[in-house]
Amino acid sequence: MNDVFLQKLRELLGEGAVRTEESMALHTTFHIGGPAECYAAPSDSARLVHAAELCREYGVTFRIIGRGSNLLVSDEGLRGVIISTENAERVTVNGTRITAEAGAGLAKIAGTARRASLTGMEFAAGIPGSLGGAVAMNAGAYGGEMKDILVSAVVMASDGTIHKLTAEELGLGYRTSRIQKDGSVVLEAVLQLREGDPEAIRARMDELAYQRKSKQPLEYPSAGSMFKRPEGYFAGKLIDDAGLRGFTVGGAQVSEKHCGFVINRGDATAKDVLALCDEVSRIVGEKFGVRLEREVKYLR
Ligand SMILES: Cc1cc2nc3c(=O)[nH]c(=O)nc-3n(C[C@H](O)[C@H](O)[C@H](O)COP(=O)(O)OP(=O)(O)OC[C@H]3O[C@@H](n4cnc5c(N)ncnc54)[C@H](O)[C@@H]3O)c2cc1C
Repeated sequence: MNDVFLQKLRELLGEGAVRTEESMALHTTFHIGGPAECYAAPSDSARLVHAAELCREYGVTFRIIGRGSNLLVSDEGLRGVIISTENAERVTVNGTRITAEAGAGLAKIAGTARRASLTGMEFAAGIPGSLGGAVAMNAGAYGGEMKDILVSAVVMASDGTIHKLTAEELGLGYRTSRIQKDGSVVLEAVLQLREGDPEAIRARMDELAYQRKSKQPLEYPSAGSMFKRPEGYFAGKLIDDAGLRGFTVGGAQVSEKHCGFVINRGDATAKDVLALCDEVSRIVGEKFGVRLEREVKYLR
């Protein structure tokens, strides 16, 4: 990578915010992934936009990540710049609306909502992603999804122009959105919540946290549900019924606790995870005629 480019990026974002040959295993909940040629974590959305502009000016490819909780990164690592939103995490409350930068964690936003006696965000408190990632994925759980509470988002289109889009324009569907299709970047978003009782909000969050802990293999690194829910089925149940509970390839394993999760037993590679997914999909396809589609994004 061009030294002048790197120097300019460091001047823009600060020395500590730009690292080269940074292991992506440190930035994914799967704890898997080779080095990013350059990893940059701007402190706010304005700097993120400037960093993207600089990449365009120097012809350097860049990709955006949030908290890396829905990512599988190639063992060979990633060329170009990985821009993480992790440090752009300002959250403000205005009446029953919350505005937050893309990097704000859903848990942090849910905590802010609870303290402001706002209900509607409880479903997301235990999802370990950022707001930007949650909008891009239309994250959801326990009967709620981002689509229910999203009012609008400020996004940077792939040509660098900034737009404010309504929830409708963002085209949120099951674990998908327009963002995933056109490669734009969420910079911030506005959520509409309702007045509620802080004790009831806390009780609901505690109940959902308990459910997660008892049903999900949170003691192992993973990226959550590996596959999307095929219409009319549950991926975990199909995998279980196919006899694949505990099925292992290298360090990757179909969780014994929740067959919809693939866990890293300690030394899994991306290659192990991909081989495991291929085999699981093949067997489920053969046995039940259902196609499993990966929910976790593979970056290479
Ligand atoms: C233990 C565990 C439990 C989970 N439970 C759930 C659950 O209940 N429900 C659920 O829906 N998901 C769940 N997930 C998956 C994951 O947390 C969500 O998909 C989350 O929304 C991803 O956010 P992220 O910031 O980690 O995104 P990343 O993993 O960093 O990125 C995911 C995708 O979003 C894109 N992206 C990230 N930020 C932006 C941005 N600012 N602008 C544009 N694109 C962006 C990336 O390019 C990538 O394509 C779980 C994961 C784990 C590990």
